[in-house]
Amino acid sequence: MRTLELAAAPVPVIGQGTWRMGEDAAQRRAEVAALRLGIELGLSLIDTAEMYGEGGAEVVVGEAIAGLRDRVFLVSKVYPHNASRSGVAAACERSLQRLKSDCIDLYLLHWRGQYPLAETVEAFERLREQGKIKRWGVSNFDLDDLQELNEPACATNQVLYNPEARGVEFDLLPWQQRQGMPLIAYCPLGQGGQLLRNPALREVAERHAVTPAQVVLAWALRQPGVIVIPKAVDSVHLQLNVEAASLQLSAEDLALIDAAYPAPARKRYLQMV
Ligand code: NDP
Repeated sequence: MRTLELAAAPVPVIGQGTWRMGEDAAQRRAEVAALRLGIELGLSLIDTAEMYGEGGAEVVVGEAIAGLRDRVFLVSKVYPHNASRSGVAAACERSLQRLKSDCIDLYLLHWRGQYPLAETVEAFERLREQGKIKRWGVSNFDLDDLQELNEPACATNQVLYNPEARGVEFDLLPWQQRQGMPLIAYCPLGQGGQLLRNPALREVAERHAVTPAQVVLAWALRQPGVIVIPKAVDSVHLQLNVEAASLQLSAEDLALIDAAYPAPARKRYLQMV
């Protein structure tokens, strides 16, 4: 699978999301098995957060990566209400324990909150010096937030990006591309909802004998510097998602998708889920 450089490491352009994992004990075995299968299939970037299942998703990830830690690029996130100098350190320690790991590859501020950015950055830098994280970044930052942050050390900005939410193409994504800062696209499948039933996406899918989900992943990946992190527990979904990496959409396909979901012609404020 194609890789790109994120936080000084080569990572696959398709990773694995974990939101909604770790919420239901009855699902735990299936979730662990899915993440392990995903790693086997090359989806070695795993995205989680202390928020998901209030730590439950990190516990699932910890179980899934046991014995495989050196094959995985681990991303986790700190809650904004924990983003103070002491709060970041304590939250990271709890995450590391749940992940049964001594280092997080990329640690993100989940969204902007009450603490000054400089304080959070200082806390991230301290974790980096201590070897508890390798790099840090942000999530749900619009362009003005990134410009205010003004930190070349910020490795990524993780935001909502799919055909239903393509406002970032107007300014945020081009800016990140110019800075060489990869954009991690969350909810790339629109959470498996209405998006995947859109007639234009179905038509493009039929042309290529693939599924609408594969079309939307390939659509996001047409942009340089973009990583997608679909969440999939179903093993068929995982396999299809891997195969989406080699799907090339034509100009006609893209025009059909543009007609259904027009590109932004003006600034749109960043959407969040
Ligand atoms: P997604 O857009 O990834 O959709 C997940 C849904 O799509 C699941 O129901 C899954 O089903 C289904 N699915 C997966 N693959 C396929 C396929 N090939 N065909 C059809 N359906 C499929 O939504 P998420 O909200 O999970 O977003 C992805 C990840 O992004 C999250 O898990 C999380 O890690 C991150 N995120 C970050 C946010 C932030 O604020 N930073 C906010 C939201 C998400 P099944 O599980 O049954 O396979």
